[in-house]
Amino acid sequence: MQRASSLTRLREATEPFDIIIIGGGATGLGAAVDAAARGHSVALLERDDFAKGTSSRSTKLVHGGVRYLRQGNISLVLEALRERGYLTRNAPHLVHDLAFVIPNYRWCEGPFYGVGMKVYDQLAGKLGLAPSRTLSRDETVALIPTIETEHLTGGVIYHDGQFDDSRLAINLAQTATDLGAALVNHCAVTGLLKTTGIITGVRARDEETGATFELRGRAIINATGVFVDAIRRHDDPAARDLVAVSQGIHLVLPKRFLPGDAAIMIPKTADGRVLFAVPWHDRVVVGTTDTPMSAHSVEPRALDEERAFVMEHARKYLAADPTDADVLSIFAGLRPLVKSGDGGNTAALSRDHTIVIAESGLITITGGKWTTYRKMAEDVIDHAETIAGVNPCRSRTVDLRIHGWLETPAATANLRPYGSDAAHIVALIRETPALASPLHARLPYQHAEVLWHARHEMARTVEDVLARRTRALLLDAQASIEAAPTVARLLAAELGRDDAWQHAQIAAYTTLARGYVYTDPASHGR
Ligand SMILES: Cc1cc2nc3c(=O)[nH]c(=O)nc-3n(C[C@H](O)[C@H](O)[C@H](O)COP(=O)(O)OP(=O)(O)OC[C@H]3O[C@@H](n4cnc5c(N)ncnc54)[C@H](O)[C@@H]3O)c2cc1C
Repeated sequence: MQRASSLTRLREATEPFDIIIIGGGATGLGAAVDAAARGHSVALLERDDFAKGTSSRSTKLVHGGVRYLRQGNISLVLEALRERGYLTRNAPHLVHDLAFVIPNYRWCEGPFYGVGMKVYDQLAGKLGLAPSRTLSRDETVALIPTIETEHLTGGVIYHDGQFDDSRLAINLAQTATDLGAALVNHCAVTGLLKTTGIITGVRARDEETGATFELRGRAIINATGVFVDAIRRHDDPAARDLVAVSQGIHLVLPKRFLPGDAAIMIPKTADGRVLFAVPWHDRVVVGTTDTPMSAHSVEPRALDEERAFVMEHARKYLAADPTDADVLSIFAGLRPLVKSGDGGNTAALSRDHTIVIAESGLITITGGKWTTYRKMAEDVIDHAETIAGVNPCRSRTVDLRIHGWLETPAATANLRPYGSDAAHIVALIRETPALASPLHARLPYQHAEVLWHARHEMARTVEDVLARRTRALLLDAQASIEAAPTVARLLAAELGRDDAWQHAQIAAYTTLARGYVYTDPASHGR
């Protein structure tokens, strides 16, 4: 996956692309894969980096959504469970089965959740994971040795999927590229081209050079997450907001707070939210929140009350109380929720996806979740084929293996998410043993990975490497700041950049990553 050659294809195209996709998150990348697999010509432009938005900030679950089951939204749960099954099959290097324990602190909870999770198992049908069952108090403690035991009566164990969100995004970008699509990151859509009221293309800016160009397409898909309304207003300045934004945050803690392999799921906190504590890459991710936001930014920040909420609940359900000093990283993400009614209560807004086609032909897709990205892609490309006037084909992604597909994981933990590409990184190290050096003593990454990111995964900045090609920013934000100079040096050598570029990259990354380092809310504003 080479940025220069993709950019040249976009800039020098003489024929319109069948489909142009704006936005390189789960939704846009899934659409690129689906369209390219059907044989259409596809261009995708991402303003920042693939998965820079919501798609790198999820809870990392491939799930049917137990909360939607509670809400009685059976069709949404069914669809998500089906997609969970496909994704587990098509990306086994990134998705795995994870046991979740619902601890019960009241006698009535055991039978209630036990029956609910049996329904969840049944809905998954043939694509189901291991069956759920109720647990005695001792079994619950054996699975979660650090669970709060005061008033604990037992539990329920069920299974769902877990994944690495931004690694899946990179692999989807590679899959689309392998199928012939032209994808470019750090390239923003700044306007839409129209002929007699019909959308015929986009105006774009290469964010690395500032160069602008125009690109023509038969169908244009707006998959820009919480930014869909900004693109819609390029088409129709009077367009009313389609999405409401809800923020969710997570805290990352050391593994000792949840040392086993099972996650904790709290179906209903005191204020009615769902809370997870999930083992991930040898850390524990705790979250999330659901806070309606009136403004949104590219780099959302946790609110003090959100941090306090997650911290308070981590202390409530874990026997050893984490302190502020234990927090390795804190990250926030924005859900694009489709508005219905007044948009006041985001927890009640639709998690299902929506496709809107404007009079100009602009196709906007939003809502949904990572788990259902494939189905969203199938639906939007079905519409795009009609708008583009191309021969309709059936979606081919139900059985399509995603780039890196590998059933037997790599021996070393840091190389597992690369799937079949791990062998290439091992070969780089064999050729140059110094590339086995760690990026940082507290991070599980090696120098060779950065070379791989630059050469084959379109990493262009220190942030691309530390936030999304590796997960250093989330695993230990302070360590990632300390690793930035090494990454800048390795990247500069690969991309032919000078010292000034390295200094600017380190400064920019340090500013960004400081926002992920936990600071005591009481010290704010001092
Ligand atoms: C806290 C939280 C937890 C979640 N947990 C889960 C979970 O565990 N499992 C699950 O299945 N789902 C989960 N989700 C939902 C899931 O993450 C989202 O549904 C999904 O990532 C949305 O993807 P997207 O592509 O629509 O948006 P995004 O990922 O935001 O992508 C939009 C992209 O468009 C780009 N863009 C914007 N403007 C332009 C422009 N002008 N030109 C070019 N590009 C542009 C942005 O840079 C961005 O990369 C969670 C969401 C949140 C917020």
